Amino acid sequence: MTKHIFITGGVVSSLGKGITAASLALLLKRRGYRIAMQKLDPYLNVDPGTMSPFQHGEVFVTDDGAETDLDLGHYERFTDINCSHASNYTTGKIYSAVIARERAGGYLGKTVQVIPHITDEIKRAIQSAETDDVDIVLTEIGGTAGDIESLPFLEAVRQYILEAGVGNAIVIHLTLLPFIRAAGELKTKPSQQSVAVLRNIGLIPNILVCRTEIPMEEDHRRKLALFCNVSPDLVIEEKDVKHSIYEVPPELAEQELDTKVLDLLRLPVHRLDLSSWDDILDRVLHPDRSCRIALVGKYTSVRDAYKSVYEALEHAGIATRAHVIVDSIEAEELERSVERLKNADGILVPGGFGNRGVAGKIKAIRYARENNVPLLGICLGMQCIVIEFAQNVLGWQDADSAEFSSSTRHPVIDLMEEQRGLTQKGGTMRLGAYPCTLQKDAVCASLYNAETISERHRHRYEFNNLYRAELEKAGLFIGGTSPDRHLVEIVELHDRPFFVGCQFHPEFKSRPDRAHPLFRGLVDAALSNRQPED
Ligand code: GLN
Repeated sequence: MTKHIFITGGVVSSLGKGITAASLALLLKRRGYRIAMQKLDPYLNVDPGTMSPFQHGEVFVTDDGAETDLDLGHYERFTDINCSHASNYTTGKIYSAVIARERAGGYLGKTVQVIPHITDEIKRAIQSAETDDVDIVLTEIGGTAGDIESLPFLEAVRQYILEAGVGNAIVIHLTLLPFIRAAGELKTKPSQQSVAVLRNIGLIPNILVCRTEIPMEEDHRRKLALFCNVSPDLVIEEKDVKHSIYEVPPELAEQELDTKVLDLLRLPVHRLDLSSWDDILDRVLHPDRSCRIALVGKYTSVRDAYKSVYEALEHAGIATRAHVIVDSIEAEELERSVERLKNADGILVPGGFGNRGVAGKIKAIRYARENNVPLLGICLGMQCIVIEFAQNVLGWQDADSAEFSSSTRHPVIDLMEEQRGLTQKGGTMRLGAYPCTLQKDAVCASLYNAETISERHRHRYEFNNLYRAELEKAGLFIGGTSPDRHLVEIVELHDRPFFVGCQFHPEFKSRPDRAHPLFRGLVDAALSNRQPED
């Protein structure tokens, strides 16, 4: 029988529920259990695909083409298990399903209500993660206990636990112990109140995980246990980590969170082997060299907007035992001066939407091309490589993407045929994993050491084949295409350290112990291109 762990959050948002859930999943996996993870998000958007990165951070894309919450990126990176459409449900997705069923007459004349119809649909969503090859499902409930929006989800969890029976489903509540500097004290009251909110709706946390800046004392543990109705040994401390989120799993293992969970779920405790994770951590904490990568983007003020890109750069650092220092630069700043690029050993232009900052990205790419600085362009970044090349090598000054100019005579990047006339925005891009055939002479073929690869996509526009022959003749090398050769997936410039653009998003497939070949390629080239420090 599949067991369930529900992870709720209290007091404030941004406590790192996703990282805590992913860390626990890693520990359980390393103890031999087959894990599935999912996130239930209480907002009304059907998925985060239509939300601004300023609002929501990165949209993480799964192999099967779901546009999902960035916490799924943590799940995949920590557990190395691929997520799917069944891994992320929102209020919008739940209501859409219920309303569609109502319109189809599926409720046979009944009044459709939050309880039981919405909660039943939520329970179906939870159940969808329960397959024959899964022992434990971890379900993270987005939002904070007490939010109006999350009530139906918490009610569904209450029902689920009741139906599953004792020992088959538990709740872990992640909460904050604020440190009041003036009093020099950690406070437990907000946590007591957030557990009281849960108890009001019939949910009793089995374990409390307490985020804290400074170590808890025995007295805090006793107080929390008494007021929150958990035994003191089930009050777990999760201190702020010093250097890297990869420190969280060993810290939680030290406090035996995983074995306590297994005891509550009445599952045998097998041996834990964290040796390969310890090696990752050792490499993160003790690099023996460094390089600087300039990340030229449009949402650089929000670190979460490029979450997987930062992580993939860190993985490349792990692989090379290097500290990869990322200099986030607002692309618009480069429209005035490219001075800040002078310190960069390598440049990365990530994906994006809309015209703002594109001129700065093109300037960064020109700088990289003319100064032999290693460059990786991802999605919009690759499209900008093509535009820059057309403008400055072929001299087509008005070359542009049809996304930014409807009047250009050289739309070197254009809308895909099937996108023309589409009015619906959500879920209509080229999404998810597609195969790509690599050219024998491509730099990428040697980096991947493969002939065919599969990478995840999220875009509407493509390289325009009308200009392919002329661009190739001028020296733009097509390193990879769709198997039918129709869609350009990779462009490269040769005779230089590293100059690659890819139409897909390699960052989603990078793992701490398996750096993505393109990020590894960029960082290797950057390490060989160290600039003198200012
Ligand atoms: N805006 C571009 C497109 O839709 C690139 C998208 C991206 O970078 N993810 O094709």
